[in-house]
Amino acid sequence: MFRSAVSPVLSIAKRTYSNVAPCTKLFIDGQFVDSKTTEWIDLYDPATNEIVTKVPKATQKEMEDAVESNKKAFETWSQTSVLTRQQLMLKLQAVLRRDMKKIAQNITKEQGKTLADAEGDVLRGLQVVEHACSAGTLLQGESLQNISRDMDVVSYKLPLGVTAGICPFNFPAMIPLWMIPMSLIAGNTMLIKPSEKDPGATILLMELLNEVGCPPGVVNVIHGAHDAVNFICDHPDIRAISFVGADQAGKHIYERGAKHGKRVQSNMGAKNHCVVLPDANKETAINQVLGAAFGAAGQRCMALSVVILVGEAQKWIPDMVKAAQTLKVNAGHEPGTDLGPVISKQSKERIHRLIASGIEQGAKCPLDGRGIKVEKYPNGNFVGPTILTDVQPHHECYKEEIFGPVLCVMNADTLEEATAIINKNPYGNGTAIFTTNGSLARQFTHEVDAGQVGVNVPIPVPLPMFSFTGSRGSFHGDLHFYGKQGLNFYTQTKTVTTLWRKGQEQVKASGSMPVQN
Ligand code: NAD
Repeated sequence: MFRSAVSPVLSIAKRTYSNVAPCTKLFIDGQFVDSKTTEWIDLYDPATNEIVTKVPKATQKEMEDAVESNKKAFETWSQTSVLTRQQLMLKLQAVLRRDMKKIAQNITKEQGKTLADAEGDVLRGLQVVEHACSAGTLLQGESLQNISRDMDVVSYKLPLGVTAGICPFNFPAMIPLWMIPMSLIAGNTMLIKPSEKDPGATILLMELLNEVGCPPGVVNVIHGAHDAVNFICDHPDIRAISFVGADQAGKHIYERGAKHGKRVQSNMGAKNHCVVLPDANKETAINQVLGAAFGAAGQRCMALSVVILVGEAQKWIPDMVKAAQTLKVNAGHEPGTDLGPVISKQSKERIHRLIASGIEQGAKCPLDGRGIKVEKYPNGNFVGPTILTDVQPHHECYKEEIFGPVLCVMNADTLEEATAIINKNPYGNGTAIFTTNGSLARQFTHEVDAGQVGVNVPIPVPLPMFSFTGSRGSFHGDLHFYGKQGLNFYTQTKTVTTLWRKGQEQVKASGSMPVQN
């Protein structure tokens, strides 16, 4: 096993694979490790399509080594004091904040989003680390004195063992940070498989964990695609899996993991609708909808990809198109960029295909981003903001999660009609309403069937003291990410019942079920 003492990212220029591109390392037992694999995945800068790094598909032995190391580390990590784990999180939040820009630069290079958005990616993960700093409160169980005469009960939240996280490409820092802090403060160890499309941010996080003294093996990182995922689903020593990504993988992991007796939480795809009522503040509502539809080039699970214009608000389409035309498409690191490229050529082609199918099926396209040219980056995977109007529920562009900068516009005469459209859609990740009418807003929040609802808030992702509560087709599992539910996901409960009789008491042998009083 090759072991490197220098930074895996800074050393990229020195270690090359076939003298063509640097290689991303594994992180096992506190060491950055060069994989011995013969199978590599090329990772391209989405703005240029130049190769950035090669990502190994970890070998079976490397994956086994990683779990073995996690398992061994669990023996001591699970016995550390809550204060020790809390202190690790306190130190981690400080260095994460310090290195936010450095991590953001890596995200922009590998994933394509703008630098400001990439910093937001780190920040939303950092907030979970900050939340985990209250481990002492979060991990408290329950107690009841005198549940029966002289009898008390306490319950403890205890770790599960080795846990695993499987991550998507669209939030390379935030998603691993939804998982690692919550799992670790509970006393678990964790195996992370970042997206093979942008694992750099996770590797930078491992540098920080080393820097703050996280013991070897508490977090390990393997790379790969389907084989690595199936390895995690099947390994008998992995007790729980956190997954975030698209439907196909999410359903597969949920079923395969559960078949092996594991706990699984699976956050999947989405089609988030918003409703714009005619009493809304027009300019603010338009800007908020466009920001949430086209930000991160539409590659957010909470992107607003459908807007339902109610009544007179349907007359706002020309203004919406005009405002969308002002958004600047460019490489993510260029100043003033609103939308970077999408992740890959294949993704760009898929987005083009779904726009074309919408038009073929009868939608109108007052703004078509397919032909966009970004002068300085002619080879990038750019798609300009696209607006499809008159979209119908049977259109392919409505049924599929496009995951690109495409806003589908639908019409409704009433709020009830708009709500019915949303409730018929199989996904339930998030939704929003724009209005100045409190009573209608309240009606909407009560009647809409989605897990995260915003009132004049376009992307209502809860902060970590709550949980990320996407529902229906967007989630498989029982307990959501972070917040109280996240902690419950990563812990098992032990109850201890004690009887200390006051004074002497003769106990007679009895075969009947004990009844307390
Ligand atoms: P993806 O499902 O393609 O990949 C996610 C992970 O699963 C990766 O690590 C990948 O290696 C693995 N994987 C992919 N296909 C697999 C298969 N067939 N079998 C086994 N493993 C497989 O997702 P992505 O394209 O990286 O991310 C975008 C998707 O993630 C979107 O659908 C988006 O809505 C969703 N997402 C959801 C949330 C949420 O909280 N609901 C958050 C972020 C992203």
